[in-house]
Amino acid sequence: MHDYIIVGAGSSGSVLARRFVDAGKKVLLIEAGHLVKETANIDKIGGFPNLWGSKYDWNYETIPQKDLSNRVININQGKVVGGSGSINAMMFVRGHKSNYEQLSEKGGELWSMSNLNKALSKIENYIDGPKEGRFQTGIIQVRNCPDPTSYCPEFQQSAKDIGYKSDDWDYNGPIQDSGAGPLQFNIDENGDRHSPFKAYLKEILDNKNLEIISNAQVKRITLHNNVANGVEVELADGSLKKITCNKKIIISAGALGSPILLEKSGIGDPKILKNANINIKVEAPSVGKNLMDHLQLPVLFKLKKQLPNPKLLTGNVLFADLNNNSPYGAPDIQLNFTPAAPQPLQRLLPPLEFPVMIFLPILVQPQSVGSVHWDGERIKLDPQYLSNQNDIETLKKAIDLCIKLANANGLNQLASDALLPPKEGHEDYIKENVTTIWHPVGTCRIGGNPMDSVVNQKLQVHGVENLHVVDSSVTPYVTGGNNHVLALVVGEMAADILLNSA
Ligand SMILES: Cc1cc2nc3c(=O)[nH]c(=O)nc-3n(C[C@H](O)[C@H](O)[C@H](O)COP(=O)(O)OP(=O)(O)OC[C@H]3O[C@@H](n4cnc5c(N)ncnc54)[C@H](O)[C@@H]3O)c2cc1C
Repeated sequence: MHDYIIVGAGSSGSVLARRFVDAGKKVLLIEAGHLVKETANIDKIGGFPNLWGSKYDWNYETIPQKDLSNRVININQGKVVGGSGSINAMMFVRGHKSNYEQLSEKGGELWSMSNLNKALSKIENYIDGPKEGRFQTGIIQVRNCPDPTSYCPEFQQSAKDIGYKSDDWDYNGPIQDSGAGPLQFNIDENGDRHSPFKAYLKEILDNKNLEIISNAQVKRITLHNNVANGVEVELADGSLKKITCNKKIIISAGALGSPILLEKSGIGDPKILKNANINIKVEAPSVGKNLMDHLQLPVLFKLKKQLPNPKLLTGNVLFADLNNNSPYGAPDIQLNFTPAAPQPLQRLLPPLEFPVMIFLPILVQPQSVGSVHWDGERIKLDPQYLSNQNDIETLKKAIDLCIKLANANGLNQLASDALLPPKEGHEDYIKENVTTIWHPVGTCRIGGNPMDSVVNQKLQVHGVENLHVVDSSVTPYVTGGNNHVLALVVGEMAADILLNSA
């Protein structure tokens, strides 16, 4: 029999499975999506937009978002062994130091900054180092933007012209904000995606201590007297199977999948469970609440001349604290920049009359908070995007920043007229055009109080023995940047904590 069952072979689940197997434990990894060892759309750097809406994508849909002109937003999430780490844009962003401090504060002593740093050292191998504060000891290869058509020196020059740090600035170094530089990516020596699947799982696929059941969706965790004792799985042929294990069950189904699975298992807010006609097994009022996500907004300028279309979605970044009031000093805007329409998006963009440069401000410290729940028939996903007016105000400031950069010494050599948004009506433009950048977190957050958190510092579900959640749902707040690194950190931390506890 297996020691551990891990539900979900995504970014965090892959890390955990690898570390358990390395420690000689017997692991069963159950994944709803397929096991794909190689495929161009995952491995090649421009392939992943082809997967959106495919069988490799859960393609979650929100309910109409009232502050987004009632639009329904699709939130793509990986449904494949490798999870979202196999369909993401590969930007390697550690996040702000304060993100780790928040996690440390909520997590307690096991989550000390030195333990978090140790976890990071097992992940990051910064090939373009050495550099102050960076690791070259980890399993994931990290490189500065390797595509010259995606990198734009004029952007860096403009940033410098309006007062941001630029020369040799490293946002993953000691100071994240107030600078601009090349984006860094988890890309390997062959120029392909260096995914958690490739880095953590691929080489142990034949290990006798690892069994992967793919194409199999866990429907329920079974409990006896508040002790988790097994899972009920729907296999590829549609049959249902009950599986048990020796030690623990770990849910790593992602920030949207994990709370749904808990609720289907009778663990959640009694009111929500009752409405969904689910027997209440354990009262856990915070399950599915506290959903936070990052939003992106396109800001387009006409180019004075045609430039080559970049191979990556973007290659340049600037982090800014536009409100100067972020409680932890983390930037509130991550501004990605692409000098011309990227190749991977050509298929999806409407035909453009002119060549364009694209600024992509990302709201990285949103104050709007939503929820995700199972209503008995379907997933009710309501991020409440832009429900907090401060988020709209920050995005308006971000548009002003793009205009300033386009006119500054540097980009003014390339930028012609502003195309989007129009001169007037920025608030309407924001509501009609903003969309997710696929970073949901917080729905099973860590904390000491079972009334406002779902898991304790050992990532054990409050009030349930032998059941843990290990993925981006446990991070208490969104990070000040893309959040893949933190999902990997959670995986490394969990492995350490679980292997060292009884
Ligand atoms: C399109 C896209 C682009 C992104 N770009 C970036 C980027 O450039 N940089 C960055 O830092 N972050 C990026 N992210 C975010 C980052 O990839 C995620 O935050 C991270 O991968 C989340 O890891 P996770 O382990 O929490 O969940 P996931 O990696 O999503 O793993 C969850 C796994 O659980 C499986 N699962 C769910 N329910 C069940 C069930 N009931 N039974 C069995 N299996 C189940 C899923 O199929 C999936 O494989 C992006 C995400 C997406 C989707």
